[in-house]
Amino acid sequence: MGGFLYLSSTEKQPQEKVAYRVLGKTGIRMPVITMGVMNTDNPNLVRAALNAGMFHLDTAQTYQRGTNEAMIGEVLKGRPRDSFAISTKARLPNDRNTGLYLAEATEEAYTKKIDTSLKNLGLDYIDIYHHHNVWRRESAFYEPIMKALEKAKKAGKIRFIGITTHRNEPEVIRAAIDSKVYDVVLTAYNFRQQHGPEVKKAIAQAAEAGLGVVAMKTIGGNIRGSYASETIDARAALKWALQDPNVHTIIAGFTTFDQMNLDLAVMKDFALTQSEKNHLRRAKLFSGLYCQGCGQCLGQCLKQLPIPDLMRAYMYVYGYRNLVEAQDLLFSLNLPSEFCGDCSSCPVKCLNRWNVSARIQDVVHLREVPSNFIA
Ligand code: SF4
Ligand code: SF4
Repeated sequence: MGGFLYLSSTEKQPQEKVAYRVLGKTGIRMPVITMGVMNTDNPNLVRAALNAGMFHLDTAQTYQRGTNEAMIGEVLKGRPRDSFAISTKARLPNDRNTGLYLAEATEEAYTKKIDTSLKNLGLDYIDIYHHHNVWRRESAFYEPIMKALEKAKKAGKIRFIGITTHRNEPEVIRAAIDSKVYDVVLTAYNFRQQHGPEVKKAIAQAAEAGLGVVAMKTIGGNIRGSYASETIDARAALKWALQDPNVHTIIAGFTTFDQMNLDLAVMKDFALTQSEKNHLRRAKLFSGLYCQGCGQCLGQCLKQLPIPDLMRAYMYVYGYRNLVEAQDLLFSLNLPSEFCGDCSSCPVKCLNRWNVSARIQDVVHLREVPSNFIA
């Protein structure tokens, strides 16, 4: 079992075997924890995860400035094609405040994204291709992207079609079910979500409809570290998500071998201990770095800033320690030349009671750092 589980004599002894669940109608049998590769550029860690049986790797075309897919492709060279499954994802230009697509978001552009991912990964087909970062029902049904995905599936470039959502998740999950096009949903799901019961209900409906359900952001905005006085027990947070049988796998974003070993241990025994339950109950009282994605701030800001995206950049910096993703996100936001500093007061009321203006003014400094310094 390794040295990562502390069990008192009264606690249940761990199972010896890794738990597997089937990813809905895709029929893919996966360990309950697999690897989210977003935060690492270390091929040895990815190799070790596959060698340890993690089986499924989740990436995106933009991760690590577009190099993450190619790094994974190198690791996969020479491995039997049925010994791993790959998920990747892409999106097209959209309005950050409405979540709706812009005119340049065409079927052709999305087909190019799929072809680029295939080339980067060096694969003949991708197991799951996700329509990335959707938070509106209308966007889930956006025809040019759906058509590109359906044609790619028919052509054998991808096996299954997925959709990812970090915000307004229940609406997007229900849209995915209604569409009859998506096979898999990848959703934020954690102990900290104030709308957690709604997400749980939507996940149950997705599983009932035969969709595969993959969970992300299960640690609630932190990457196994501490933020100010708050420390999240990753083991407890992962176990919490696995109590839901409709979560087929979690993509865990570990960046060290110790963290990977902790996840491997959780895959063998995810019964929550009383002390872990108490820890999560306490941790839920702090908003930490996790933006609830409620959208209540949108429309309040005098400069119409895309505040949830800015809070995500802030989380990437202080939670994930992933400055590359944070800087890329900031550059993609087309922020006005003046904001926050020239507002006499800030009318934004955040559900988390964050001083969003202070967080924005802090994180935007990252735009001034030359990209090659943080690559
Ligand atoms: S201070 Fe910043 S967040 Fe607040 S209204 Fe002004 S621009 Fe928006
Ligand atoms: S109000 Fe706060 S929690 Fe809600 S979306 Fe805005 S930043 Fe996130």
